[in-house]
Amino acid sequence: MKLTASLLERAQNACELCSATEDLNIYAVPPKAGDDDNNVVVVCPTCLGSIQSKNYSDTNHWRCLTGSIWSEHAPVQALSYQILNALQSENWAQEALESVFLDEAIINWANAEAQMEADKVVHKDAFGVVLENGDNIILTQNLNVKGANFIAPKGTSVRKIKLVPDNAEQIEGKIEGDTIVILTKYVKKQA
Ligand SMILES: [Zn+2]
Repeated sequence: MKLTASLLERAQNACELCSATEDLNIYAVPPKAGDDDNNVVVVCPTCLGSIQSKNYSDTNHWRCLTGSIWSEHAPVQALSYQILNALQSENWAQEALESVFLDEAIINWANAEAQMEADKVVHKDAFGVVLENGDNIILTQNLNVKGANFIAPKGTSVRKIKLVPDNAEQIEGKIEGDTIVILTKYVKKQA
């Protein structure tokens, strides 16, 4: 999507966060896409780079948010809220969040990405290493395979596991030809 004349007019030819005027760009506030002016913010390269790398360590720069959070435009509100949230350890950011009144829809928008991240099911082995579909693992404990009448000993390797999509504690793998459910806390990922 391009920086349109109507967007530039809305932004008054300046970064909608910090008011810089050089090399303006647009940024779609996640999880929305850049297909609509109402989803995007006009930003300068400094703001954009920082947002994309989620690096807000230049806290002085981001004091501009105490102004932009009061914008009348929804995407600017949502983005400002998102970044202020990331800066909550700064008193001024905390104060800005507390003093502003935003629609619930804007707050939900601003929090949506973090929420999705939090909701994501991540499978980890006994040592906290992230497991993926197709990984090979070994058992860290003897495993009593129910119904198959055998015990898979500790150290048994299981190739090409499948993650159980809605349960971070379970994977599936084949042991002696049977596909069984294995608890992630009893496995170690193989390099
Ligand atoms: Zn800027």
